[in-house]
Amino acid sequence: MSSDKTLEMTGGCLCGGVRYRITGPSRPIIYCHCSQCRRTSGHFVAATAVNTEELVFETNESLSWFDSSEFASRGFCTRCGSSLFWKSKNREIISIMAGTLDQSYGLEAADHIYVNDKADYYELTDDLPKIPQGR
Ligand SMILES: [Zn+2]
Ligand SMILES: [Zn+2]
Repeated sequence: MSSDKTLEMTGGCLCGGVRYRITGPSRPIIYCHCSQCRRTSGHFVAATAVNTEELVFETNESLSWFDSSEFASRGFCTRCGSSLFWKSKNREIISIMAGTLDQSYGLEAADHIYVNDKADYYELTDDLPKIPQGR
């Protein structure tokens, strides 16, 4: 994708038990409104994504993985509870919750997915594409 960023980015969880570095191009932000993202994040998820080998851990001492479906698992910190990652079981791709990045890196948002699962207590008022399910 032409809007992929190649800048190295860093991030981590609230307590510092998980620290990571992104060494390759990252996907624009996708907002996911599916019920699993809503539960794990407390609202909805904003995530970038990279190829698995481009996510490097500086420390992952408190990182644990929850098998959230037959397709994916979710990475979180067992100490502070931060939701950090979504990892596909079929593809070498890992999504990274954008709120865990250390700073704003100029990432742009691409679209909303699973809009059919959205809760009714918020409205989507931007002009981004709104996809009923996944893609
Ligand atoms: Zn933590
Ligand atoms: Zn989701």
